[in-house]
Amino acid sequence: MDGTARKILIVEDDELTGTMLENTVRSSGFVTRRARDGREAIEAAQEWHPDLILLDLVMPGIGGVEVCEAVRSMDLPSRPSVVIVSSRDEKSVIADALAKGADDFIVKPVDELELLARIRAQLRIVEFYEEVERDNRDLETILEITTAIGGTLDASQILEVIVDKVADVIGATRCSIVLIADDEEGYVLVSHEDPNVRDLKIDLRKYPEIREVIRTRTTLALTDMVNHPLMHEVKGLIKELESTSILVVPIVFKERVLGTLFLRARRRDGGFTKREIEFCQIVANASCQALKNAKLFEKVVKEKEYLRELSITDQLTTLYNHNFFYTRLEEEFERAMRYKTDLSLILMDIDDFKRINDSYGHRKGDAVLKEISALIKRSVRKIDLAARYGGEEIAVILPQTPMSGAAEEAERIRRSVEAQSYGGLTDERITVSIGVASYPHERMRKPEDLVNSADRALYEAKSTGKNRVVVSPLHENT
Ligand code: GH3
Ligand code: MG
Ligand code: MG
Repeated sequence: MDGTARKILIVEDDELTGTMLENTVRSSGFVTRRARDGREAIEAAQEWHPDLILLDLVMPGIGGVEVCEAVRSMDLPSRPSVVIVSSRDEKSVIADALAKGADDFIVKPVDELELLARIRAQLRIVEFYEEVERDNRDLETILEITTAIGGTLDASQILEVIVDKVADVIGATRCSIVLIADDEEGYVLVSHEDPNVRDLKIDLRKYPEIREVIRTRTTLALTDMVNHPLMHEVKGLIKELESTSILVVPIVFKERVLGTLFLRARRRDGGFTKREIEFCQIVANASCQALKNAKLFEKVVKEKEYLRELSITDQLTTLYNHNFFYTRLEEEFERAMRYKTDLSLILMDIDDFKRINDSYGHRKGDAVLKEISALIKRSVRKIDLAARYGGEEIAVILPQTPMSGAAEEAERIRRSVEAQSYGGLTDERITVSIGVASYPHERMRKPEDLVNSADRALYEAKSTGKNRVVVSPLHENT
């Protein structure tokens, strides 16, 4: 329920009984209205939309049963509960009233406690009806949205339909879909309150709520945005938005926030309900494809993605580059320390690679390096990260992997490198030497310790004959 008091219509021709009923009901916090005959009752039901009607049976003119029938034939926004209050207690009278659409029956003289208990029971049913009706409406809206998505509209028109429907259902003062380009740049693709807004660039530094959603990838609902700690840094900009609630729902594709469904509404108490939030989440999911089809998406997001891809990839091998390797190693090391999980590092170096260059030329060397890199990429698990560490040195980060598992993987890589021929050089056997190091270990306090340790193991593999795996000797004396 939304906190506003329920409305109860009291239909009673007897002045004393009517006043008594009214006082009892009012003292429990309900809003009441009196009707003194059937005609007045029908009018009040039609205009005032009571949640519940306490209905006398015997009245001058139109009787209670007829009122009940009339109410049931009305097209009302929601179905009021009808409780007959009568001194007639014959079974046939009760049965008739219930058959004509009454929900309950109280025999006079009325006991106050019983009356209130029955009213509350009926209102629970009213509430249930309302929920069912709301769910129906939500479903209808979702159906309309999916129909729009499947139709012939272009992406921005679809997004326009979406923000309009959502604003309607939620009663939002503002509803828009924002495309996220990166941490600082966003674009309002469509906006319910201003249909002229298209592809309006916004500075996400002024929207901590959107940044929060990008970070957490989960829905954010703030009851009172102005006074929420998250909004502290922009409080000066939003001070006119007292008692405004906001809802920001991420539009996620492949674990990335591509955009947000953004709503503002004036809510004095309670903010958005669970139902509203769930509704918006369904709609946000449904709008993902339209967002990806939007013209600006291609331009802004794909371009940034390409640039980012470019900045972390080594061009020759298409493995990650040295910079990105270090960034990720730091992250993984941090995570391993925090969650007390294993972390291993494999460092390998191609054996006698100078000779390949010298015998066949640098270009051939490049081709060999490329093929070996591709093989490594295929050999590692999905959660592992392979990077070009240096010239012909490749590193693999193995999250959640202890020394034994890493040694096995290293050995598997060593064997498959050895088994293949590269660059059409069928007479050359090309091999790698590999060093392995793992966390946790008392001497592994920072990411560099892992690298140095794996490097020493690699050196040992080289100096003891090459084409072999050596695990960091540090581990042997623990
Ligand atoms: P070792 O078994 O001791 O590793 O012998 P190595 O010949 O491989 O010697 P080292 O690792 O010290 O030298 C690496 C050589 O790899 C030197 C360099 O010319 C070659 N190299 C490094 N990066 C590239 C590259 O991108 N392309 C080609 N073609 N060669 C490279
Ligand atoms: Mg080498
Ligand atoms: Mg080398």
